[in-house]
Amino acid sequence: MTERFAALVGRVAAQLVVIPVVSPEQYRAITCNRCGVCCEDIRGTEEPDRVAALVAGAEPNEDRRRFLSGLEPVGPTAGGWRYRCRHFGRDAEGLGVCGVWATRPSVCSGFPYNRVVRTWRECTWYVQVRDAEGRVIEVVDAAADGSGPAPPVAADLAVLTMGELAELNQANQGGDA
Ligand code: SF4
Ligand code: SF4
Repeated sequence: MTERFAALVGRVAAQLVVIPVVSPEQYRAITCNRCGVCCEDIRGTEEPDRVAALVAGAEPNEDRRRFLSGLEPVGPTAGGWRYRCRHFGRDAEGLGVCGVWATRPSVCSGFPYNRVVRTWRECTWYVQVRDAEGRVIEVVDAAADGSGPAPPVAADLAVLTMGELAELNQANQGGDA
């Protein structure tokens, strides 16, 4: 099976999976299960040579440069490259651990940006958010008391190009990084 066909089968299969429906309040209560898939399955459109050039100085944003400097190429994909983060590890129980948690880039600390995750079914944010009338909510506002989702261990990169990541990164500069 070619990689492109396998990806197509995966997308069709994903559409057949029942996605849990949650309210905004339930969304805000979701916490990371530390599966680690988002630190080990990072997808981007940039090739490793370009990532190295960005880390060397072509990327002007320091926070984003730090994120890119953690990427280790895993291999090419149909639409670009897959990376894993060199700062990622697992504890004795197999749970994901970020080696730079306290200073992790904002693209990681801001994840999932008050949105749902569609890339990894393992992710606890693989849900659909609906309001009391059943309308789908794309971006969940912070709670009235200002609290939001607990910071997870990683970034939702697989659905984003690195350019989109940069935008998200900048949009999250005022976050909890
Ligand atoms: S953010 Fe989601 S995908 Fe990443 S470790 Fe947590 S539950 Fe898993
Ligand atoms: S949270 Fe970010 S910096 Fe930490 S291991 Fe995951 S991808 Fe790397």
